[in-house]
Amino acid sequence: MNAPLPAEVLKQHLIDPEICIRCNTCEETCPIKAITHDSNNYVVDPEICNGCMACVPPCPTGAIDNWRLMVRTEAYGLQEQLGWEELPGEKALPEAMAAAPASDEPDATEAAIAPPLSAAPGATVPPWSAAHPYVNLYTHKAPMTATVVGNYRVTGADTESDIHHIVLDFGELPFPVLEGQSIGILPPGVDAQGRPHHARQYSLASPRDGERAGYNNLSLTVKRVTEDHAGAAAHGVCSNYLCDLAKNDKVQVIGPFGNTFLMPNHPRANLIMICTGTGSAPMRAMTERYRRRIETGENGRLLLFFGARTERELPYFGPLMKLPRDFIDINLALSRETGQPKRYVQDLIRDRADAVRELLADRNTCIYVCGLKGMELGVLDALREVTLQAGQDWSILHDALRREGRLHFETY
Ligand code: NAP
Repeated sequence: MNAPLPAEVLKQHLIDPEICIRCNTCEETCPIKAITHDSNNYVVDPEICNGCMACVPPCPTGAIDNWRLMVRTEAYGLQEQLGWEELPGEKALPEAMAAAPASDEPDATEAAIAPPLSAAPGATVPPWSAAHPYVNLYTHKAPMTATVVGNYRVTGADTESDIHHIVLDFGELPFPVLEGQSIGILPPGVDAQGRPHHARQYSLASPRDGERAGYNNLSLTVKRVTEDHAGAAAHGVCSNYLCDLAKNDKVQVIGPFGNTFLMPNHPRANLIMICTGTGSAPMRAMTERYRRRIETGENGRLLLFFGARTERELPYFGPLMKLPRDFIDINLALSRETGQPKRYVQDLIRDRADAVRELLADRNTCIYVCGLKGMELGVLDALREVTLQAGQDWSILHDALRREGRLHFETY
């Protein structure tokens, strides 16, 4: 264990702007709101951070895990950090301070032994049996070049939702991935400030053994962004670039990322998958992993809640509906289907309370939620309600699910 630090010395927590993929996980996870961001960087407020480490395990890239011993009065402020393109080097402490008496403050390394449950609604650890993920094999400074081998639309051509299934091939270069992980795409060109674009993060839609089993490739589910969350016209730099790619085009890729939103790897594990729109990408990856081993008898149960505006705007509708019903229990929540009442995934969780409760009672069940940020609260409320109906205390179950890495959110 590290010796306690002198009172005038701060072990300052910093985020590496060169590795950070701006996914917002750290800001969401921080239990005391010490992390903030602007359009350039994610930064840690030295006045607030207490080194609790809650944000470190969930960071998909490890950019969060940077520390500098600083004279407390000279700590890097927020404005300074927001302007960084790279982390400053280590500074030597004045000799007198290195020898100063110890403070009573707990050191961050001690806090790490028992990190607190974060402010985030989901787990910050993977399920116990998840396979080992590789992360950061390719970085902003050293990306890899992939080749587009497929790009086709997976929503009705007459709808506004232009969602593409894009297959990237890595040729001879190693790119080991797991379901639930993501990659970063570096769009060509520069932003309004003349800086190269930051990477944009996309979840894998294919399982660990490739979009086509045995091939060194993977797939993504990408929605062409033409408006922002408020409905105003906006041009998504990376989504439009990706949706317009042709076969044999080259793409700069970094990653893989993600070490918590991973599927259990032990036999007869059940998955409850709750998604909206392109948040279906990791659910497709996990479902395909199970489908490929259907003959082995190792699978647990799959319960899917999938929300989209209409059937024709639901990505992969055709292939999904061809899956055997004894393999996956499919529940579609359509919000704008003509002649039908508006339904959200949380409504269907309530409708299927018995099935959800039965799976929740089994410690082999993991829950994955991916898609719109707005559904987080609704899904948590629905889960609370179905457990309460059975006389169970949701807060106890919720804490257990988080501690055991059995409840995962990836929402934007
Ligand atoms: P969308 O079409 O805007 O919405 C999908 C469905 O969710 C619609 O039926 C919508 O209903 C419904 N919805 C809206 N608010 C809801 C709420 N509060 N609770 C439950 N359902 C709600 O979805 P999208 O544009 O595809 O967006 C998917 C999200 O997934 C994006 O935020 C994206 O960033 C994220 N994501 C993408 C990936 C990827 O790899 N591409 C990975 C992870 C996450 P209405 O009729 O009310 O709109």
